[in-house]
Amino acid sequence: MTDGTMAAMRECYRIRQAPYYLETGDEVAVFEAAYAARLPVMLKGPTGCGKTRFVEHMAYRLDRPLVTVACHEDLFASDLIGRYLLKRDETVWEDGPLTRAVRMGAICYLDEVVEARKDTTVVIHPLTDNRRTLAIDKTGEVLIAHPDFVLVISYNPGYQSVLKDLKQSTRQRFIAMDFDYPAPDLETEIVSREGEIDRETAAKLVTLAGKIRNIREHGLTEGAGTRLLIYAARLIRLHVPVREACRSAVCLPLTDDERLQETLGDLIDDLF
Ligand code: ADP
Repeated sequence: MTDGTMAAMRECYRIRQAPYYLETGDEVAVFEAAYAARLPVMLKGPTGCGKTRFVEHMAYRLDRPLVTVACHEDLFASDLIGRYLLKRDETVWEDGPLTRAVRMGAICYLDEVVEARKDTTVVIHPLTDNRRTLAIDKTGEVLIAHPDFVLVISYNPGYQSVLKDLKQSTRQRFIAMDFDYPAPDLETEIVSREGEIDRETAAKLVTLAGKIRNIREHGLTEGAGTRLLIYAARLIRLHVPVREACRSAVCLPLTDDERLQETLGDLIDDLF
């Protein structure tokens, strides 16, 4: 790959505009130190609490390209590494997202990594220790990671099950950072800003989320994330009646269970 192609690729993955991110603790300093030491990072926390936004913010701050892969159960190692493609009667190799990140010195963010096929861990391991290599079986190449490359993974402990747990041999290759829903005043600010609504309504949505997060033991697998509150806020801003907005953006996405939905509906009625 020529220097020019590499520079163009970096440009493609560069984040041009500063993402809005409200710091909730000392996560920026910790990540900066981890990056300076080129340590791989694991972000732990429930869905919709700001992990992806944080990585975008850090990539922007550190001025590194960011390659994000949303992992899913059909994602094989080969999807990360690359494949041969037939182009005009010729077979040509095309790098996958991880290989691209390794070559150009990007931050590679594997979102919800436990969802991916087990063979992906085999690929990740040599990249996370002092070898910093990526073996491309199909081409016989062993890539040494660009000095600026770093791997970041996210992991939701709430979904933990015997089948879907990160193995110790994988976990112990990362420094871990705990993420949770932001404190109420910070979350209010985020919902108000991202949802473009007044602080008073945002604060009520945050109170609702707090109550929902507290009834988790009644069968909800997860509480309402900040993302859903922002969705509700955006509907409200577009004049959807508040209760309806909460039902569509918060209740229905969270559960299919009618009794639980009733309970959530009661919480909404109490507040609004
Ligand atoms: P996750 O990756 O944890 O599932 P996201 O990073 O996608 O969650 O967060 C969901 C949304 O919540 C973001 O798009 C953003 O609007 C908002 N958000 C959450 N936390 C923050 C924060 N600390 N600062 C700014 N926005 C945030």
